[in-house]
Amino acid sequence: MFIDTHAHLTSSQVVDLENVLKRARLQQVDTIVNICTDTSTLEAGLKLAEQHPWIYNAAATTPHDVEKEGEQFFPLVEAAARAKKLIAIGETGLDYFYEHSNRKVQQKFLERYCTLACEINLPLIFHCRDAFEDLFAITATYFNHRPALLHCFTGTIAEAQGVLDRGWYLSISGIVTFKKSEELREVVKYVPLDRLVIETDTPYLAPMSKRGQLNEPSYIVETAQMVASLKGIDLSSCAAATSQNAKAFFSFSKVH
Ligand SMILES: [Zn+2]
Repeated sequence: MFIDTHAHLTSSQVVDLENVLKRARLQQVDTIVNICTDTSTLEAGLKLAEQHPWIYNAAATTPHDVEKEGEQFFPLVEAAARAKKLIAIGETGLDYFYEHSNRKVQQKFLERYCTLACEINLPLIFHCRDAFEDLFAITATYFNHRPALLHCFTGTIAEAQGVLDRGWYLSISGIVTFKKSEELREVVKYVPLDRLVIETDTPYLAPMSKRGQLNEPSYIVETAQMVASLKGIDLSSCAAATSQNAKAFFSFSKVH
């Protein structure tokens, strides 16, 4: 019923993964995209997907870590992608808010991941914070009119329109349930339902009622409930619509 389009299941911060997955199933989460950001999370992710065919992997170094780890991880992402073990490339992109890596290095890796995704025909998952102008400029050159998803969207309505203009999807996280997220709730009302998907970003960003705890895929229901109420639809219609969008974006049947 629900698809969690972005969870770091193989992050070392996730404890008792088997029970996390059981609770997800109990809440009718029937597909999870596991985001691998380095060698160990990718290795664990590939094993996890073998054991649990409802879990799929995407991989890339995050924009935070490209300066430190980007070079060594890139060939592993490329090999996994070429072996058809990945459902998408990402999360890649630009983060000028934290700027943990030099902007030029972030841009360079964004270009490389865009080029790789084009070559092997995979969609991209973007992370973008305070950097939409550069994201749109770089992708126009290296990734024009190809499928992408803006994970954990927290931009403005104008930026959301920029994403829609490119035919991309917006993924809404638990942030939408936070008290101060008025602007994001307006974005959700503005964006057509057929361009929205939902995610937890496990283990980060637990929704309002679980704040301070480690997030997990079963908590996606609270985010879905908020999106449903903003759209004036019931929870099961929201689950159906966002799952259908995720299936249109990710070619799940091509991986396993
Ligand atoms: Zn993430």
